[in-house]
Amino acid sequence: MSLSAERIAQTLTRHALRQTPVRRAVLQVLGDSPFALSGSEIEQQIGPGTDRITLYRTLKSFEENGLIHRVIDSSDVIRYASCSIECSAHAHFDNHVHFKCTACQHIYCLSQVPIPAVMLPDKFEAQTRDYLLAGVCRECQPA
Ligand SMILES: [Zn+2]
Ligand SMILES: [Zn+2]
Repeated sequence: MSLSAERIAQTLTRHALRQTPVRRAVLQVLGDSPFALSGSEIEQQIGPGTDRITLYRTLKSFEENGLIHRVIDSSDVIRYASCSIECSAHAHFDNHVHFKCTACQHIYCLSQVPIPAVMLPDKFEAQTRDYLLAGVCRECQPA
């Protein structure tokens, strides 16, 4: 289901961000994608004529504002996924599982699957959490 223009406008308003074509397009592309996208994939989907600097500034500001988050795997490629509409500005980081499909290579943002609690030894304090599972996604399962 495609994200409505109204919902996109509301999201920008809620984060006190000005409505610009690039911002709207990035939210649309990420909101409609079932898997995380790299900057250049987003650029391709938005279409030709997008100013790359504007695009990367938009990604940075969205990340800082908690509209999107980074998805990292063992490669150097940084991908982005949109945060769910309901998540609050501080609680969305690293709180859910990501899944890399070894067949299609897509990385899914499983925002509905929380990272399980991990018991750490005394005096160990975790500051970030990346929880990446690898396997075969729904689309790639044999019929
Ligand atoms: Zn797959
Ligand atoms: Zn995610």
